[in-house]
Amino acid sequence: MSPTLDAVVVGSGPNGLAAAITLARAGRSVRVYEAKATIGGGLRSAELTLPGFRHDLCSAVHPLARSSPFFRWAGLEDYGLEWCEPDVQLAHPLDDGTAVALWRDIAATADGLGADARAYTRLMGPFVDAWPALMQATLGPVTRVPRHPLLLARFGAVALRSAEGVARRTFAGERARALFAGHATHAALPLDRLFTASFGIILGAAGHAVGWPVARGGSQQIADAMVRCLTALGGEVVTSSPIDDIDQLPHAGAYVFDVTPDQLLKIAGDRFGGRFGAHYRRQLGGFRRGSAVFKLDYALSEPVPWTAPECRRAGTVHVGGTLSEIARAEHDVGAGRVPDRPFVIAAQQSVADDTRAPAGRHTLWAYGHVPFGCEVDLTDAIERQIERFAPGFKDVVLARVTTPPAGIAARNRNNVGGDIGGGSHDGLQLFFRPAVRWNPYTTPDPRIFLCSASTPPGAGVHGMGGYWAARAVLRGLRARGA
Ligand SMILES: Cc1cc2nc3c(=O)[nH]c(=O)nc-3n(C[C@H](O)[C@H](O)[C@H](O)COP(=O)(O)OP(=O)(O)OC[C@H]3O[C@@H](n4cnc5c(N)ncnc54)[C@H](O)[C@@H]3O)c2cc1C
Repeated sequence: MSPTLDAVVVGSGPNGLAAAITLARAGRSVRVYEAKATIGGGLRSAELTLPGFRHDLCSAVHPLARSSPFFRWAGLEDYGLEWCEPDVQLAHPLDDGTAVALWRDIAATADGLGADARAYTRLMGPFVDAWPALMQATLGPVTRVPRHPLLLARFGAVALRSAEGVARRTFAGERARALFAGHATHAALPLDRLFTASFGIILGAAGHAVGWPVARGGSQQIADAMVRCLTALGGEVVTSSPIDDIDQLPHAGAYVFDVTPDQLLKIAGDRFGGRFGAHYRRQLGGFRRGSAVFKLDYALSEPVPWTAPECRRAGTVHVGGTLSEIARAEHDVGAGRVPDRPFVIAAQQSVADDTRAPAGRHTLWAYGHVPFGCEVDLTDAIERQIERFAPGFKDVVLARVTTPPAGIAARNRNNVGGDIGGGSHDGLQLFFRPAVRWNPYTTPDPRIFLCSASTPPGAGVHGMGGYWAARAVLRGLRARGA
C-alpha cells in the first residue's frame, strides 16, 4: 500500500466505486473503505431464504445502470458483468385479468393501450429516439451548461409537471394512465407533486431504449465487476472498516464520501479547522429524508401464478391497479399513513436469469412504500395485493424473509429510516442535493467531497454521482498541483 494516497473513498456503493474507478483511470492512487464485510452497498445479493436461491438485498432492476454514461465508459462487461433481459420488460396487471405490458418495442407497447396508442408514442417516442443525449443531459447537476438545450426544454415541459396531471391530461384510458403512474411511483412521492412526471418519462422511455434488465447472478455482480475494474487500475478496497471520524483515514489529497449528509457532518464537519461553516452545516442539517420501504423476499416452488400471461414473462411487475388507486396509496405514505392497499414493486429476476434459483424454482423480490421509520408490518397488505392479481400465490411460497425499514437501515447506514433514495426527491431537493451549490459534490473544505445518492442525480444504480464527484476531485488536485 502506498504511504500517501491521492484519494480515499468512504463507502463502496455504486457511487463510491464509480468515483474510485474514475480517479484510478486518471492515474490517481485510490483506496475505498467499506463499513460492511461485503462490498457494493445497494448492489449486494445473498442467499437470504434457502440454499440455492440468490436474492438482491437492495437494487434489482437496472434501466439506469444500462443507460448510465459512466457504466458505458467503464466497460464493465469486460469485467464479467452480463445483463439478462426478460421478454416483457414490465407488466402492470389490472382487475379485469389483463395486464399492460412494457415491451422493448414502443409500437407493441402502444398496441396494448387502445385509444391511447398514439398519445403514448407521441409522449415517449422523442425521448426514446434521443436516449443517450437525454441521459447525458439529466444524469448530472443542473448547473452544467446543457449540450442539448432543445431536448432538455422538451423534456422539462412534461417532466417538471406532476405525474398524475400528465397521466390524466395525456391519456384517456386506464391502461396507459396506470402504466405511467406505476413508473412514477419510483419517485417515492405523492403523484400530485411537481416533477414526479420526470420519473414516469425516464423509466418508461428507458424500457424501450435499454430495457429493464437484471444482472446475471445478482446485482452483486455489478459491484464485483466494478471492483475487478478498480483493482485492474491499481485501486484497493478495504472492507469491515466503518469510518466514524476522518482521523481514522490515512493521509490523502482528497476524501470522497459515499455517505448521507448527516454522516458527512459527523465524520468530517469539524475537521481541518471546521471549514464547513455555519451556512453549509445548516443546509446539510436541513436535508429532508424520503419515505421508506418494507421489503419481502421469497423462494418459490414455481413461478408466481399471475392471472395475466404477460406478468408471467415480465422481469418487473407493478402491482397496484389503476392510477387513482396508486395515487391514493402514495398520497397516504406522503401524509405519514400506512396504505391499506400499497403499491407494490415486484421483481422476478429468475424469469430472466436462471442462476437465481434451482431448476424449476423461482425468486420474488417485492416492496411497498411506507412512511419514514415506519414500524407497521406491511406483509399482509403486500401479499393481499399480489394475491389479487395472482390467486394461489401463497401456495407456491417455500420461504419468506421480511425486511422492515429498520432492517433496511441495518444493512446500510445510508438507508437511514428505511429511506432507499438517499433523501427525498421532493421539490427543489430533486435538483439541489444536498445543498444549493454550483458544484454539489464539493464542500466548503477543498479536500472533502460527497458522491452518494444524496447528490445529483439522486437515487438509483448509475454511478453518476461518483463520476461527477471524481471529476471535481481531479480538478481540485490539479489546482493544488497534486
Ligand atoms: C430495497 C432497495 C431496492 C432498490 N431497488 C433499486 C433498483 O431496482 N434499481 C436501482 O437503480 N436502484 C435501486 N435502489 C436504490 C440504489 O440501490 C441506491 O440508490 C444506490 O445503491 C445508491 O448508491 P450509493 O453509492 O450512493 O450508496 P449505497 O449503495 O447506499 O452505498 C453506500 C455504501 O457506503 C457504506 N458506508 C456508509 N457509511 C459508511 C461509513 N461511515 N464508513 C464506511 N462505509 C460506509 C455502506 O455500507 C454502503 O456499502 C434500491 C435500494 C434499496 C435499498
